[in-house]
Amino acid sequence: MLNDPLVQELLNNVVKDEENLKIVECLLNGTDKDEEIAEKTGIKLNIVRKVLYKLYDAGLASYKRSKDPETQWFTYSWEFDSDEVSSQIESNSKNMIKSLEKLLEYEKNNMFFVCPENHSRFDFDEAAEKGFLCPECGDEVKFEDNHKLIEKIKEEIESCKETYDLVKSNNAK
Ligand SMILES: [Zn+2]
Repeated sequence: MLNDPLVQELLNNVVKDEENLKIVECLLNGTDKDEEIAEKTGIKLNIVRKVLYKLYDAGLASYKRSKDPETQWFTYSWEFDSDEVSSQIESNSKNMIKSLEKLLEYEKNNMFFVCPENHSRFDFDEAAEKGFLCPECGDEVKFEDNHKLIEKIKEEIESCKETYDLVKSNNAK
């Protein structure tokens, strides 16, 4: 599961440091106590705990609390939610397609003006508001042919759709 680049991308956003994926690996292999995870991975206990709560916060892990009858201390057993990973990837990729489609419409339906030094890029209304001048350097902004960008967005949408279809059919299994 952790070899899947989409899974890695999602988890890296949560755990921040790639090193911390070892913690997820431990959970997947059935190690469920923070101290044992710290021992196995060599990652400091406070970082293990922080990462576990980040996973919890992202809806990707849950815990059960139980009291040790002898010491009266609480212990936490953690569990990783693989199904939630899959469904988050599916909905993220759906949202990505939606926002790219919105962007595509915006690019298709507008004219754009850019600063020759690339400080700024405006649609017609914004450019008119600024008097067709770059607010940063004062140069005149020039009409930009955005056909290439439009083609690039279309390609991006196609590739996202392929990913989405793949993820969706895997999740349905
Ligand atoms: Zn400029």
